[in-house]
Amino acid sequence: MAPSTSYDLIIVGGGIVGASVAWHATQAGLRTLVIDATGPAAGASGASDGAVAVATKKPGLMAALAGESLRYAIALSGVGGVLNGCFHRRPSFLFATHPLELAALDRLARMLAEPGLPVTLKADTGARQAAVSGLGDAVLRVLELDGEGHMTGYDATLAFLRASGADLRWPCRLDGFDTRNGRVDLHTSRGVLTAARLVIANGLGAAALLPDLPISPRSGQLVITERAAPMGFPHLAGALTSAAYLLDKTTAQPTTGLPAPVVIDPLTTGQLLIGSSREDGGNSQSTDFAAVRRILHSAVACLPALSQRRIIRVFAGVRAACGDGIPIVGAFSSAPNVTVATGFEGDGICLAPLIGREVVRGLSGQAVLPGLAALSPDRFNSKQVSIR
Ligand SMILES: Cc1cc2nc3c(=O)[nH]c(=O)nc-3n(C[C@H](O)[C@H](O)[C@H](O)COP(=O)(O)OP(=O)(O)OC[C@H]3O[C@@H](n4cnc5c(N)ncnc54)[C@H](O)[C@@H]3O)c2cc1C
Repeated sequence: MAPSTSYDLIIVGGGIVGASVAWHATQAGLRTLVIDATGPAAGASGASDGAVAVATKKPGLMAALAGESLRYAIALSGVGGVLNGCFHRRPSFLFATHPLELAALDRLARMLAEPGLPVTLKADTGARQAAVSGLGDAVLRVLELDGEGHMTGYDATLAFLRASGADLRWPCRLDGFDTRNGRVDLHTSRGVLTAARLVIANGLGAAALLPDLPISPRSGQLVITERAAPMGFPHLAGALTSAAYLLDKTTAQPTTGLPAPVVIDPLTTGQLLIGSSREDGGNSQSTDFAAVRRILHSAVACLPALSQRRIIRVFAGVRAACGDGIPIVGAFSSAPNVTVATGFEGDGICLAPLIGREVVRGLSGQAVLPGLAALSPDRFNSKQVSIR
């Protein structure tokens, strides 16, 4: 079948990463099409929390990238900015109920003391002195951080897509592609499309499309409460995250014996988003009620008044996890006009603003952040891009 339309860039995946790439691409004057097998934010971006957080990142590269993306999200959320109304700054609170968690908070405080990160340690207190009322007796210590924020994944995805003016097409699934004569032919469920460049930002879908990349599912359960706060329910100014969650995300060390990791995130709607577990495998069609029970147990131990809130929804999201624990971003040396951006696991909402900017800088031949080199797909030594 002959190619039907020609674009400078086709982006596969209408999640937050593809949407951010699309917005940056049209800003750079590229004629851009976004395709998605289902629709915008149909994957992890539509079933996640939206912490734009540095504290929960592995020290080093991931914390530095998150810090850079946080700064950029703040810049984009100013008056007239594409993320205005989506990204909100708010304090973050990390708490410990167990000796191992106390040690994790020590490590976090040391990381934040290093210069360069846009997040500062505002207070290091016990439960009684913390700027959160109603903490349970189990809480031993609380760190209050200044500088982090939150954006709901589907809000930010739609904001980027709407402001981009890119052509959008769904349902349209990419099944494979060929590169020849400096162009890319995409074989899709709606025929062949052609472009000068292809960006594959299809989250977990990359596992089927690019089988050389070690991408696998890691699901997470989320709980949403009703909006109305019952009389006397303590006001929560920012996310309350257990240090067990920090340990679960940043170390290979098993968290056996620790309370289940939990994050209690106040949404701008007045609801609380409580999550999220990290189970290898799983899917977004079924709920793991045992994991939900563990999360809620930890949440109520931290904030006992939570037991007065009604739960209105429980659901699962699925992250695309990369085998070596860091995302995969960059062009293939074997196919320089094909760029991949996937494997963001639990950090894609936070990293998407930065990744969109850097991917388009790379496409335009501009210098990218030096740290991006470590994310290259070539680290998996694929001789060729395998297509399935
Ligand atoms: C429970 C949970 C909590 C989370 N909390 C946070 C958090 O607090 N902070 C944070 O930063 N991140 C968080 N994340 C992670 C974040 O949601 C993801 O990293 C991010 O959404 C990934 O975005 P993406 O655009 O790469 O992928 P996705 O949002 O998954 O989008 C991929 C898109 O590609 C489409 N697609 C797939 N295959 C094809 C194909 N062959 N052809 C066409 N289209 C295709 C899909 O339909 C989908 O719309 C959380 C995730 C989960 C599950």
